[in-house]
Amino acid sequence: MRRLTLAAIATVTVIAALVVPPALAEGTVTAADADQPAALTKAPDAAQALAPVRFLLTFDDGPDSGPDGSTPVILRQLANNPIAPGIKAVFFVQTAHRRRGGSPEGQAQMRDTCAAGHLLAVHSGLPEGHVPHTRLTPEKLADSLRSGEADIVAQCGHVAPVVRPPDWAHNDATEAVYHQLGLDMLMADANARDGKIYGWHISLRRRSHMVSELERVGRAMTTHRLEPVDGVVPVIVAFHDTNDFTASHMTDYLQILVDAARENGLPLADPPFYTDTGAAEQAAVARAKAGLYARESWP
Ligand SMILES: [Zn+2]
Repeated sequence: MRRLTLAAIATVTVIAALVVPPALAEGTVTAADADQPAALTKAPDAAQALAPVRFLLTFDDGPDSGPDGSTPVILRQLANNPIAPGIKAVFFVQTAHRRRGGSPEGQAQMRDTCAAGHLLAVHSGLPEGHVPHTRLTPEKLADSLRSGEADIVAQCGHVAPVVRPPDWAHNDATEAVYHQLGLDMLMADANARDGKIYGWHISLRRRSHMVSELERVGRAMTTHRLEPVDGVVPVIVAFHDTNDFTASHMTDYLQILVDAARENGLPLADPPFYTDTGAAEQAAVARAKAGLYARESWP
């Protein structure tokens, strides 16, 4: 009986192995697998030469906690979606603002976020919240970053050694402070344009916008501005988890990113998003240390 059961299991396993499509069995899903002849005829040589891309999602400004909070809505979709279940992202948080990480609810949200396998890093460690680092003295900036890291460690036991400056504002002085504290600045290759300066809900052209963002990524890959980390090119994508439109459309965005990569003939890694916390952190640090992005300026 026992032997029969094992034989049955072995048969099922063999059948399962046989029916796995080649695209899933291999390490990458290419534009050819995705049935995109237009993209292939556009640049076949470039597509063949490029390493597969894997998206590293980042979220700024949160946590946005509570019953109507956007952060938990996003976390649920990163965990459960038809494109790549179990996505792990980097959340650049405001640790001390009373509407963000500076309340018991915000602290609980930070705990929930890292407990779900995501990485937390500092955006702002000030009670005032979203103040550009360039407006602070080096001493005040250093104090606020140390404090922000301590706030994250208190909830998560770990803080990712990267920083995303509020309003993307940085200069030699702020970068010197980051390095002094062992932090590297992580900017982004693609931006969802969901920050305040674009209007909270204006994302009507988000699909065509992402296609052009990833076209820039393709150019940066062919000129070797973006290099592989552990066999894949991490593409840093910036969102805001305080934006409730982003939150309610997160799964759409995941599909848009995959579609936009295919439209540009970019080979996709399998999975196309980071699903391993350690690999996500390694990619974030490597990209931050390299300091080169598809973008050369940020909103
Ligand atoms: Zn911000």
